[in-house]
Amino acid sequence: MGSLDTTKKTIPHVVCIPYPAQGHINPMLKLAKLLHFKGGFHVTFVNTEFNHKRLLKARGPNSLNGLSSFRFETIPDGLPESDVDATQDIPSLCESTKLNIPEVLFWTTSACGIMCYMQYRHLVEKGLTPFKESSFMTNGYLETTINWVPGIKEIRLKDIPSFIRTTDPNDLMTNFLIGECQRAQKSSAIILNTFDNLEHNVLEAFSSINNLPPVYSIGPLNLLLKDVTHKELNSIGSNLWKEETECLEWLNKKEANTVVYVNFGSITVMTSEQMIEFAWGLANSKKTFLWIIRPDLVAGENAVLPQKFLDETKNRGLLSSWCAQEEVLNHSAIGGFLTHNGWNSTLESVCSGVPMICWPFFAEQQTNCRFCCNEWEIGLEIEDAKRDKIEDLVRELMDGEKGKEMKQKALEWKKLAQNASSGPHGSSFVNLENLICDVLL
Ligand code: UDP
Repeated sequence: MGSLDTTKKTIPHVVCIPYPAQGHINPMLKLAKLLHFKGGFHVTFVNTEFNHKRLLKARGPNSLNGLSSFRFETIPDGLPESDVDATQDIPSLCESTKLNIPEVLFWTTSACGIMCYMQYRHLVEKGLTPFKESSFMTNGYLETTINWVPGIKEIRLKDIPSFIRTTDPNDLMTNFLIGECQRAQKSSAIILNTFDNLEHNVLEAFSSINNLPPVYSIGPLNLLLKDVTHKELNSIGSNLWKEETECLEWLNKKEANTVVYVNFGSITVMTSEQMIEFAWGLANSKKTFLWIIRPDLVAGENAVLPQKFLDETKNRGLLSSWCAQEEVLNHSAIGGFLTHNGWNSTLESVCSGVPMICWPFFAEQQTNCRFCCNEWEIGLEIEDAKRDKIEDLVRELMDGEKGKEMKQKALEWKKLAQNASSGPHGSSFVNLENLICDVLL
């Protein structure tokens, strides 16, 4: 293990360029803070112009100019001037963010998700994707199990990141990800926001993949950051939406483990029919809930809930548009999390000891869901988002035997996450020091 020598004369400089979406900016900012605080790095954090404007709008015009050694810059994104609260067109962003500079790759998703992305080339070679016809999406084909993914005993096609669900051999996302996996080989190191105990087999299996640089698992980053006692640094935030604070006050009045927290992250969209099913599932469970509904949660429409639902739940449901999720998840009132299984949300739930109901939307959320339900035993999957099913799962999560077992497990994972991020011997704590000493300095 290397030891940190921050007495060197020249100040090292790191340029951090996150993929321009909330789920990437958040962990990248955490990593940047750690490099600044622990490694003494001068940081230049680069957002797209679009996101920079959104950060300033959400957090105030002076929110990003606090420190001379931790600066924010922008790059053009080619996006038209438009409503700054709009959900982004991810495939077109993929085209515009390729920068040809030497890199350490911070892949902000789970190790299991990345391992599956690394199989995309093999899935194409084996003829498993693109699908021969679109009926393969629904005819049971997705139940096909595969047992040759390194570090993963058995997984269904359904659990492989969703971008394989295409009939188009030139599919942009499939090819983008195959390209990203090849590019990963050219970087000096790969950084992951996970920890050894959580994804041991997969992390170990990376070493069996040819030409891959060393992988440093340094998560959960939010727990490593708890040692950072730097006021200005701590005040830099990364939410692209304005945080509504009334939900924390509302939670303060609730008993421990009684509230279901519902949030589908920054990108997931649903139909208005699906939203209504979720609404009635929650209402019929009779549980107290906090439901965060982004203004653009319903694809192409404003999110409008039935008046009858609003009347029925007005004393036990709070609706809000965006919240400080980590604080919410750490609140003692929260008993369970209905989530889309974005990796940050999943890991934040693990860190808070909160079991989940999983409704994966896209990308590697499917893989995260599989691991939550089967490997870590802290999740129940919604197979079909219908109100009766949702009601049953919410009751099971909050009151059922399975719910109690999951809560117990979630608390065990929380403890392991804390151990991994604690010095001097926690695996992620040590890996971060090694990353700084061996690769970055
Ligand atoms: N988040 C938040 N408040 C919200 C919704 C999301 O702070 O109301 C944060 C959440 O804590 C997480 C990130 O936004 O860090 C979402 O990332 P994730 O990987 O879970 O999902 P994505 O948005 O990329 O689908």
